[in-house]
Amino acid sequence: MIPRRGENKTALVTGASRGIGRAIAERLAAEGYRVFANDLKAREADLSDLAAEVRNAGGLCEVIYCDVSDPVSVETMARDLLAAGGRLDLLVNNAGVRSVHQTGEIEPDEWDRMFAVNTKGTFLVTKAFLPHFRAKGSGRIVNIASIGGKRGGPGESHYCASKAAVINFTQALAVEVAKEGITVNAVCPGVIDTDMGRSHLQDPETLRKVLEKTAMGRVGYPQDVVGSVAFFGSDDAAFITGQSLNVDGGIIFH
Ligand code: NAD
Repeated sequence: MIPRRGENKTALVTGASRGIGRAIAERLAAEGYRVFANDLKAREADLSDLAAEVRNAGGLCEVIYCDVSDPVSVETMARDLLAAGGRLDLLVNNAGVRSVHQTGEIEPDEWDRMFAVNTKGTFLVTKAFLPHFRAKGSGRIVNIASIGGKRGGPGESHYCASKAAVINFTQALAVEVAKEGITVNAVCPGVIDTDMGRSHLQDPETLRKVLEKTAMGRVGYPQDVVGSVAFFGSDDAAFITGQSLNVDGGIIFH
């Protein structure tokens, strides 16, 4: 039975049109949150489909477009959301990008793109809502980092570095705002079966190595991630901040 921890609360999930973000939005709506589902305008069809699905299930979901890496776009989203919703209780910074290149083949622009969305995007959206959280003396921020941000793997040093920065941003901000009723935590998924995760899963040899290194012997699914996000967002986690929780089926680091 899904707890109704989001009654009379509002949540924003960035990058919610598919994958982990979509599953988080669905879960939060099922917990009773009024959910604002964000993504790029280019993802309009899938985002509208999510909103319709949530509403058909009796939940509350509105779409809100913005490119999280663009400061002007983010400020506009924050203004529009607060005008429409009146409040924000839970911010989930989920939007992210990943690509696979050996370090010698990473173009500087690709390095910058990884940091622009994964790291700067998390910072910009957080910064846009901090004054609101501070004014009401409460707020929950959950950043979707990655197990790759704790221990890097081959072929993704740019991605891993951008996610390590998200984990450290989480820790630093958590202590900065702790006395203001705001908690900041990160969730670090392992390999999850989504459009992004599939680049890991398509090659049979890579999949074999992933399964070998995962104690549970299987990949994760978006549904495996949502409970930890909902928990960090809830009153049950009121005394927990600055944490980065692995949700990875028990990855074995050699
Ligand atoms: P996904 O590619 O399926 O979804 C990412 C979403 O983010 C998409 O809807 C995309 O349109 C959106 N997005 C990208 N750039 C954006 C921008 N500039 N502004 C707004 N939205 C933007 O990926 P996913 O697997 O669902 O990943 C979700 C999060 O989980 C990401 O932060 C990712 O790094 C992280 N993660 C994923 C895995 C995995 O194996 N899938 C593992 C660890 C961490």
